[in-house]
Amino acid sequence: MHNAAFQALGIDARYELFEIQPQKLEVELKNKLKQGVSGLNVTIPYKEKVIQFLDHIDEEADLIGAVNTVKIDAGGESTGFNTDGRGFITHLKEAVGFDPKGKAAAVLGAGGAAKALTAILAKSKAKTISIFDIDSQKTKELIERLKIICPQCLLKEAKDANDLLSGEPDLLINATPIGMSKSDHLVFDPTLLQKKMVVYDLVYNPAQTPLLIEAKARGCAGVFNGLGMLLYQGVLAFRIWLEADPPIDVMEEALREVLTKT
Ligand code: NAP
Repeated sequence: MHNAAFQALGIDARYELFEIQPQKLEVELKNKLKQGVSGLNVTIPYKEKVIQFLDHIDEEADLIGAVNTVKIDAGGESTGFNTDGRGFITHLKEAVGFDPKGKAAAVLGAGGAAKALTAILAKSKAKTISIFDIDSQKTKELIERLKIICPQCLLKEAKDANDLLSGEPDLLINATPIGMSKSDHLVFDPTLLQKKMVVYDLVYNPAQTPLLIEAKARGCAGVFNGLGMLLYQGVLAFRIWLEADPPIDVMEEALREVLTKT
């Protein structure tokens, strides 16, 4: 999507994938900076580890505790940002038309993506945020972090996936990889999915996950996969790197084309 945007705007730049060995993160990162790279995205498992090697960190990324976007200025200084949470909330508010202020949200997963989007939900003054992760320690740590961001939010660790739905949330988010594999099944009791719920699955490949199929069949108020979040985290990263507005429709078309092929 970035290359499509560069081409559409006539910008002489290239977005490339490079893989690195975990033990070489610092060295490889410094090499990239020396090669004149002006922006980077960082993905799992480096979103937290990369912070120690950056010169500066943006306030929101610091709050979230993870970086997915790095800008390198003309002097070679690097700053880390997080556009995952903002990308999610931008799509949720602008495209879906859902404002989480005063609403009840339930999140499956307490990993990197959940950290980013729950921080933004807390900043957006969601009334309650319930979280379930198979690793209870992760959930507890995330709740402690969220308490600082939103002291007035009601934060709850759910006992299991179904318990997440017991409070009849307005917004249900899957922030786990469940649904990516063909053998994945629905982890919720489907009868607990209510018509008033907006269901948001961060998985975008495949476009239809067992959760989204069931939510659609049960007439949930909104049913969305992770494509919108993926698009908007990219749009926001583009703005950070180039201080210019990208052609969002071109980026979306490029994304859809690639995902259809895969
Ligand atoms: P992650 O850091 O690995 O977090 C996933 C969390 O879910 C882990 O803590 C995992 O526990 C937990 N989990 C796994 N199975 C579970 C279950 N049955 N019940 C409860 N918790 C469970 O991954 P991530 O980076 O947050 O990504 C999560 C998903 O979001 C991925 O599918 C990713 O592709 C997607 N994502 C989408 C976007 C987008 O732009 N649309 C952006 C970021 C991520 P264990 O580690 O113990 O398995």
